[in-house]
Amino acid sequence: MLNSDYAIYRIPMAQVNSNLYFVRWENEGIIIDTGMPGNARKICDFMKRCDLIKVNGIILTHYHIDHAGSAASLRRITRAPVLAHEEDEPYITGERAPEHIDLMPNDMKKAYSKYRATVVDKRLRDGDKIFGFTVIHVPGHTPGSIALYDGKALFSGDSLNIINGKVQGDPGYGADREGTLSSMEKLIELNCEILLPGHGCPIENTASSSE
Ligand SMILES: [Zn+2]
Ligand SMILES: [Zn+2]
Repeated sequence: MLNSDYAIYRIPMAQVNSNLYFVRWENEGIIIDTGMPGNARKICDFMKRCDLIKVNGIILTHYHIDHAGSAASLRRITRAPVLAHEEDEPYITGERAPEHIDLMPNDMKKAYSKYRATVVDKRLRDGDKIFGFTVIHVPGHTPGSIALYDGKALFSGDSLNIINGKVQGDPGYGADREGTLSSMEKLIELNCEILLPGHGCPIENTASSSE
């Protein structure tokens, strides 16, 4: 499971264009975020087409429905464990209601009626190492938002998004404005080589490669 051996696939999901990523090494890999409810079949079809046989983990960058929406079905189909930060766990399991639904886009608001809760098999904390990546706790957009970083690729969740080719922060329904800004700065300071956002096309940081 060496870092340099992986390939990354992105599937932009319908409705609010949240990204789902596969990080793959040989015939196995991990899923980062799951899109809205009802996407499990599309995701599994994609996996079949590219011979991705075994999923070792379903990692949720945060609890919002455009990222955790298909987690329960995917967990059932793939039998892979769901991993998420401990502070977002109660929202993923349905123990706590999502915050700031009123500020969310209509598609997201409506989708909450279709949300199926899932257990979190592994609770994550800042600094945990999973599948070659370090978990970075970036509270703000949600209390338990995380990013994943391996010194090169940064999966930022919604703490950084790319809109019209520009890096931006939380889309406006973050739970904690101050936290959102400091988490955004923390991620930008990493000066990663490739940024894989929660929404939008990934970008390479040409300035990060040393001459
Ligand atoms: Zn979000
Ligand atoms: Zn999102």
